[in-house]
Amino acid sequence: MIRTDSLSKRYGRVNALDGLSITVPDGSIYGFIGQNGAGKTTTLRVLATLLLPDGGSAEVAGVDVLRQPYEIKKLVGYMPDFFGVYDDLKVGEYLEFYASLQGMRGWAAISLRDSLLELVDLAHKRDEYVEGLSRGMQQRLCLARALIHDPQVLLLDEPASGLDPIARVEMRELLKELGRIGKTILISSHILSELADLCTHIGIIASGRLLREGTVKDVLWAAERPAYQLKVLRDVERAVAMLESTEGIGAVSVSDGDIRFHCDGGAESAAEALAAVVRSGIPVVRFAEIESSLEATFLRLARNE
Ligand code: ATP
Repeated sequence: MIRTDSLSKRYGRVNALDGLSITVPDGSIYGFIGQNGAGKTTTLRVLATLLLPDGGSAEVAGVDVLRQPYEIKKLVGYMPDFFGVYDDLKVGEYLEFYASLQGMRGWAAISLRDSLLELVDLAHKRDEYVEGLSRGMQQRLCLARALIHDPQVLLLDEPASGLDPIARVEMRELLKELGRIGKTILISSHILSELADLCTHIGIIASGRLLREGTVKDVLWAAERPAYQLKVLRDVERAVAMLESTEGIGAVSVSDGDIRFHCDGGAESAAEALAAVVRSGIPVVRFAEIESSLEATFLRLARNE
């Protein structure tokens, strides 16, 4: 389990973390979601022992991040958002180098290299130069590097950023595989939809504070409010005024002649609103529930904050 308790961190006048408390259950894939500048990288760097917070505490598998940083380094594999590689190394040599930093030599290092390359689907690139790999391949190699000491916990900072759609799918499949073999994975992103079908849990942060946390289903359901779309042949303004004055209907907006609104009262009150519009003689040509997008949910949560 990963836990932070009231973490705070300032950079000059910027409050990067403002009492951040998160809980990542054992064996979960936890999507750590926030807009640019929300504090994700700062949190991951604290957990990876690369940055000292100004206040609060953090632990990984019961080990105190601030007091026992050397123990933490054994438990944690960290993949930064910026991929630094030694360009004049071949893919295989790159992993052998990192294996040697962990004290591995000879056959042990070679067999580890090969099994990691197999895992991240780069075995066929073993003798090619790192700089010649595509970005997606470099990201997978970076993940292999983070796995070199077989850590229980992976801290991955935006691993899919800059990847094309196919490389994103490959990265997602790889992370699912790591989840299946029991790793606890904390993965940051500013794109909720990228994580929703991968993660078991999510935490949404803004301005260094946690807004929501829980299983993906619980967080999204709690945040959802059903939205509807209504198209009328004429009298758009009158229809809008009627909806605005109906109890339980809110956030009425018009876009390209489509009226959209939220309905706190559920399907019953949406049906009542529709009936009232029809009764008033306004010709309705379409009425439908809008599938709420994950991004919209996330933006609403972040903005409400
Ligand atoms: P992104 O998705 O853009 O990487 P993030 O959620 O990872 O954002 P952080 O990188 O943790 O956010 O940054 C949080 C805040 O702290 C931002 O306002 C950022 O500008 C600021 N910040 C981060 N690192 C530094 C630094 N070394 N010096 C000054 N300010 C910093």
